[in-house]
Amino acid sequence: MVDYESITKTFDAAQQNAHLQLADAESVVVRDSKGNLQYRVTYVSSLQQKPERGDADPSKDPLAAPDPALTVSDEGPGPFKLVLNKFPVTPYHTLLVTRDYASQESALTPSELLHAYRFLHDISDSEHRFMCFYNSGVNSGSSLDHKHLQVLPVPADFPLFPDILTNGRAHFIPNDRMEPLQTDQLPFAHFGIPLPQGKDEVTEDLLAMCYFPLLQRALTFFRNWDLESEVIPKSYNMMMTKEWMFIVPRSQPKIDPSVNDGLKLGFNSLAYTGMILVKDQETFQKISSDASLISSALLECGFANTAGTKPNEYDY
Ligand code: AMP
Ligand code: AMP
Repeated sequence: MVDYESITKTFDAAQQNAHLQLADAESVVVRDSKGNLQYRVTYVSSLQQKPERGDADPSKDPLAAPDPALTVSDEGPGPFKLVLNKFPVTPYHTLLVTRDYASQESALTPSELLHAYRFLHDISDSEHRFMCFYNSGVNSGSSLDHKHLQVLPVPADFPLFPDILTNGRAHFIPNDRMEPLQTDQLPFAHFGIPLPQGKDEVTEDLLAMCYFPLLQRALTFFRNWDLESEVIPKSYNMMMTKEWMFIVPRSQPKIDPSVNDGLKLGFNSLAYTGMILVKDQETFQKISSDASLISSALLECGFANTAGTKPNEYDY
């Protein structure tokens, strides 16, 4: 079993030997009073070197043979190897990389879901809480095509959007009568489910019965676009903690600065839980003084909220 200590040991050694460089970051919590939403905005200037989608040579797969200094485990958990993120903003940010190549556009398998879920249990303790996430599809904010989930510690003092959404709600499997949770407080479409409290209740089947209905709801947005003959590649963010699963359909990875007053914002899964990363100082200043700019940008890169709308016969 891979434990928290093996991650921290590999991280500390990799950092000492300059195999990874932790970004200099400062975080502030800002409030969008219109939407009554809180964002944790992290500003980093040193990440400019990180390759974006399209920067790397497409014939090369950096996750096929990861740097041994960044590799925590070649053999597990389950079908994955565990590799440290080479460009972390948060210490102990890891990637669960499939040992055999699979596409980042493929759905998560029940076995991958269960091993990711159990991994969250294996590394968590009363002081450390972790979230795993999957950026799938070209518009999800992903940069690498080799299938990988990511796992990182989340701040103890900042409630994530899915924490608020699922707070006090008992687990259920979505069906005709019970739709996944979606609140009209968030500007963008999202779907959430509380997971059972008992670790042993959570099986491959149960996780698949949560993930696939959420995924179906997300994919319906792309089918609707197809009907209007505008094809948008299927993209979504999937996030999971020990407490919940959450999916957000995505329409674009970043906003267009030319129609957004020069604002430079791009998002992956973390942003849709409330954790915003900014690399441009002017953007950091603007969104710190007007957090409603973040809400608008999240909507622009997602789809409009559909809370309260009943699914129809044309939906997946
Ligand atoms: P994504 O951008 O969602 O596809 O996630 C890929 C992650 O892998 C990013 O967070 C990168 O910082 C990280 N990354 C990029 N290249 C490497 C590499 N060679 N080894 C480990 N992590 C990497
Ligand atoms: P990006 O360039 O957006 O892919 O992000 C750069 C690195 O920071 C990647 O390793 C991301 O997964 C990670 N990251 C993105 N957003 C956040 C955030 N809000 N907090 C911590 N790390 C983040």
